[in-house]
Amino acid sequence: MTQWVYLFSEGSKEQKGLLGGKGANLAEMTKLGLPVPTGFTVTTDACLCYLNQGNVLTEEMKGQIIQAVDQLAEKTQKAFGDAENPLLVSVRSGSKFSMPGMMDTVLNLGLNDQTVETLARNSQNERFAYDCYRRLLQMFGDVVMGIDNQKFESRITALKKVHQLEFDNELTAEHWKQIVTEYKEIYRQNIQREFPQDPIEQLYLAIEAVFGSWNNQRAKTYRRLHDISDDLGTAVNIQEMVFGNFGETSGTGVVFSRNPSTGEPGLFGEYLINAQGEDVVAGVRTPKPIQTLADDLPEQYQQLKTICENLEKHYKDMQDVEFTIEREKLFILQTRNGKRTSKATITILLDMFNEGLITEDELVMRLEAKDLEASLHPSFQEETLKNRVPFLTGLAASPGAAVGAAYFTADSATLAKARGEKVILVREETSPEDIEGIAVSEAVVTARGGMTSHAAVVARGMGICSVVGCEALTMEEDQGIVGGETIQEGTILSVDGTTGSVYFGEISLEELSNTVALDDLHEIWDRHAKFQVRANAETPKDIETAMALGATGIGLARTEHMFFEKSRLLQFRRLILADSLNERLEVLKHLKQVQKDDFKFIYQAAQGKATTIRLLDPPLHEFLPKNNDECREVAKDLGKTFNEVKRKTDNLAETNPMLGFRGLRLGVAYPEIYQMQGEAIIEAAYEVMNEQGYEIQPEIMIPFTIDAEEFARVRESIETAIQTSLAQYEQEINYQIGTMIEIPRACLVADQIAKYADFFSFGTNDLTQMVLGLSRDDSPRIVTQYLEAGIMQDDPFQVLDEDGVGAMMKIAIEKGRQVKPDLKIGICGEAAAHPKSIAFLNQLPINYISCSPFRIPQAKMTLAQHGV
Ligand code: PEP
Ligand code: MG
Repeated sequence: MTQWVYLFSEGSKEQKGLLGGKGANLAEMTKLGLPVPTGFTVTTDACLCYLNQGNVLTEEMKGQIIQAVDQLAEKTQKAFGDAENPLLVSVRSGSKFSMPGMMDTVLNLGLNDQTVETLARNSQNERFAYDCYRRLLQMFGDVVMGIDNQKFESRITALKKVHQLEFDNELTAEHWKQIVTEYKEIYRQNIQREFPQDPIEQLYLAIEAVFGSWNNQRAKTYRRLHDISDDLGTAVNIQEMVFGNFGETSGTGVVFSRNPSTGEPGLFGEYLINAQGEDVVAGVRTPKPIQTLADDLPEQYQQLKTICENLEKHYKDMQDVEFTIEREKLFILQTRNGKRTSKATITILLDMFNEGLITEDELVMRLEAKDLEASLHPSFQEETLKNRVPFLTGLAASPGAAVGAAYFTADSATLAKARGEKVILVREETSPEDIEGIAVSEAVVTARGGMTSHAAVVARGMGICSVVGCEALTMEEDQGIVGGETIQEGTILSVDGTTGSVYFGEISLEELSNTVALDDLHEIWDRHAKFQVRANAETPKDIETAMALGATGIGLARTEHMFFEKSRLLQFRRLILADSLNERLEVLKHLKQVQKDDFKFIYQAAQGKATTIRLLDPPLHEFLPKNNDECREVAKDLGKTFNEVKRKTDNLAETNPMLGFRGLRLGVAYPEIYQMQGEAIIEAAYEVMNEQGYEIQPEIMIPFTIDAEEFARVRESIETAIQTSLAQYEQEINYQIGTMIEIPRACLVADQIAKYADFFSFGTNDLTQMVLGLSRDDSPRIVTQYLEAGIMQDDPFQVLDEDGVGAMMKIAIEKGRQVKPDLKIGICGEAAAHPKSIAFLNQLPINYISCSPFRIPQAKMTLAQHGV
């Protein structure tokens, strides 16, 4: 017989797959002796079986459920439908992975026309009892019977209007009785049936509804967005009800054991006195910050604090805890690892490591790529912000900054996004139906709800900036009103989720946010990493970013990238279109100064760290005029005739420029160009060493080598020029001249090349292009087809092709090191930084990889994880 049902006292936290996250943790807390209301879990296997068998609960399942209900009755001394002591339960979903708001909850199950009377008598509070009953009718109607919740809500709104009341808690027992009658009528009208009075029937229907909700659209969308398998199913937790709406010594809330936005230690959360479960998260009443519970109910606050601390120690992670206080008695309804911002993740892990709660290895392994990516969220430029006044403020629910056009519904946001707009979703509050709209938005702003409201939790989880609970905002159908101002659809807003401010118009974004926490991590990562991570960067700004993000040096400064700017482009064109050596030398004299300044900036920004400067590798077509109009323009700029420019351009035109006049082929034909660059590199290094005191050992890199003799000649010509430069200085400069290995032949003759080269750096962009015979510029169409057909598993320009390119690299490494056992070997093609590539490269005896600045933290983290 399969065990479909587990009492909380039977399970443990290891059984998340079978009992769901919530069920497993309730069992664990029961085992720890915490005040958890008694209950049981119907397993995820039961859900899958139910769904597979045409949505029926088998007799075996029903039997086990009844047995568990009996045990619950025995423990609580209550029974379903009992005239003296009626058992009331909550029914909640809980899958292996937390899916907030995705699945459904029913509270107060077990109430009916009789037991509501008993509850009123026992609690001596008729208002409370009927409020509970109407909640059951409403939740059951909505969740189990699929009746539109608005139909229920509108009755409450209407009643409040009639009696000129503002809040639900101003409604009396008589009001709730009237609502109960009206709700029953809604049942009759909508499903042509009475609300079921038998608690067991209520229970079966609720369990079936939870199982069924695994396949509702919201749940499916959430799983798709979060890469959660459809085959897991959800468990159902049935638990004795405890009441937070029992008067002023009762309440309910949600707390985090640390601040989920910033990671700061200490309880963080919200609660409401005299309220039930969903009130806090639904954002209907604005909850109070948890710290004030210390005044309202000091003993329970202390107890809660201690429990949270203990849970954190037990789970070795920040906890998100739901609690209820029923007439001064504290109950824990749920604990789970809390969702948090990426910034908070890093802070929390570092703090827990420093507190001795987790080991260094655990710290390294527990960070995820998404945390790092998101920790690099943009913020607004401080200078610009100083002069701006927010027109709206709310709770800073999820950090980051974003600019976009306001849209008021998930659908209109999705459509606007599809049109290419950046979108800010502005709503009264959000619900799970809005998930797709949130996912496409740059930011989410809501008028109501607290830090644990749906909008706040979901946006934080997705790393989307969010401001919630903007009290001054009133939402109407097609506009938002704030004082005298209105937000129309399409109004441009700037949203700061770190401070909780919303501005009209666009504010410039700064790309880098806080990297302070990363500094500590780099030290730890470096200890575990087998090789270094350098940056592909050449502009001072990119190099500064790279250094801030932990680059151990510059692995590739592409000098041709320094010529795209307009005035330089002109000089460069003058160089390649020059008719004579003299004309070229003239241009080079000017360019040398320009390049020297460039290199000085690079050295300064690199702060003395290793710096590899690659000599010109221009696929020439990128610099040539593209058509007659451009030829005419260039002719005018350069003081040449159209025919001269046209003839020269035509002469230089190539059918396949990527395999044409590139790299050191240029150095062979026009040695003076590489000589100029060599001199500029050395002279700039000398000047920065003198001015800044950095120790600089320039690494000069020659691209596109195919042959030892070819490389040796070019090297010699550069060295001759360098020696002339050096003669002017007293101080020696240690420089190296190495080569890129990016052509298959270079791999196969790497031993010969290594005799002359001081280092190797694999250019896997070109190497992939040539090993696969797949043009880097034209590959996407082909690769997409191959991926769809399952011929390729990954785009080889993103993930290193281990079997082909990787095998070629192994040959080159082996041959190179045969000649020079200490030969420095790096990889500067972008694919090297992909986590999958790193898994492969980690097995090779290389010294470094090099990638674009924003990929550095993730590459270092992955590398460290392989080192644990
Ligand atoms: C390469 O080919 O991998 C490389 C780094 O050089 P580029 O992309 O500039 O050709
Ligand atoms: Mg290349």
